[in-house]
Amino acid sequence: MKLVESFDFTQSNIQDYLDCFYRFYLRYILRTKWPALVVEDAIKFEARSQAGARFHRLVQQYLAGIPEDQLSSSAAGDPEPGISIWWENFLTHIPSCLVGEKFSEITLSTNLSDSRLVAKYDLLLINQDQHQITIFDWKTSQKLPKKEWLMERVQTRLYRFVLAQSSQALTRGQTFKPADIEMVYWFADFPETLIRLPYDETIYHKDQAFFSTLVTEIKNRPEGSFSKATDLKKCCYCVYRSHCDRGTQAGDLDGFEDFDMDIESAEVETDFDEIAEIKF
Ligand code: SF4
Repeated sequence: MKLVESFDFTQSNIQDYLDCFYRFYLRYILRTKWPALVVEDAIKFEARSQAGARFHRLVQQYLAGIPEDQLSSSAAGDPEPGISIWWENFLTHIPSCLVGEKFSEITLSTNLSDSRLVAKYDLLLINQDQHQITIFDWKTSQKLPKKEWLMERVQTRLYRFVLAQSSQALTRGQTFKPADIEMVYWFADFPETLIRLPYDETIYHKDQAFFSTLVTEIKNRPEGSFSKATDLKKCCYCVYRSHCDRGTQAGDLDGFEDFDMDIESAEVETDFDEIAEIKF
C-alpha cells in the first residue's frame, strides 16, 4: 500500500515521519485509528488544547475586525481564566506590531518533487513600505522554548519555505526574496518575548533540498521499511504505544512540552480539503 496521490505534506505529518517511520505508516498509509491517550491527564490536556483553540479564535476575530470590547467581554466570560490573561497580553503587546496588510488563518501551498507542501498560518503580515512579510504564530504553551530549538522545528522550516515559494499569490506579483521573510513566535504566557527568526537565501536552499529529499524518500520508501522508533521516549506520547507493545502508560502533561511537542501541533491533523486555500 502506498501514499495516495493527493497526499499533502504538512508540518504534523512530516514531524510524525521524522519521529517514527512506523507512526507515519500507521497514521497516513494504513490510516489506523488507535484508542489511546496522548498524555496521561487526558482531561487537562483536552482543556488546555481547547483553551488554546479558543484563544486563537479570539485573535482571528480581532484581526477580522470584530470590536475589541466585544472580544474582551467574551474573554472575560471564558470558563478558563487564563484566556483573559492571554487576551490582555495580546492586546498590550501585539497590535502595535501589526502594521501592514493582514492575512489571518490563511493556507498556502507549493509543489515540490511532484508533491504538495501545505502550511496554515495564524497570520501573515505584508509591510510594503519595508518590503517585508512576517509570519506570526501564536503559542499557548506553558514553557518558553529556546530560539535554536524553534529555528530547527519542522514548522519554522516549512512555513518560511512555503511562503518563500508562494508569496506572489498574496503580493499581486511583487517579488519577495527569502531575506524579506521572517517568522515570529509569540507566547501568550511570555508576552514580552517575540522570538524573531529571519530567513535568507542560504537557509531557503537548505530547506528546499531537505524537503525535496524527504518527500522523495517518503514516497519511495518500501512498505516493509517503515521501522519503529529506536528512541523509546518517542513512544511515551504516541497513541500507538499498545499497538507497538511499547507500554500502555502515557507520558505526563508536564513532560509533553519538554519533548519537542506543543499542544497546537498535537491537535488533530487538519483536513486541508476543507480550508479555503490560495495556491501558487
Ligand atoms: S509507539 Fe513508538 S514505535 Fe510505535 S508508532 Fe508510536 S513512536 Fe512509533
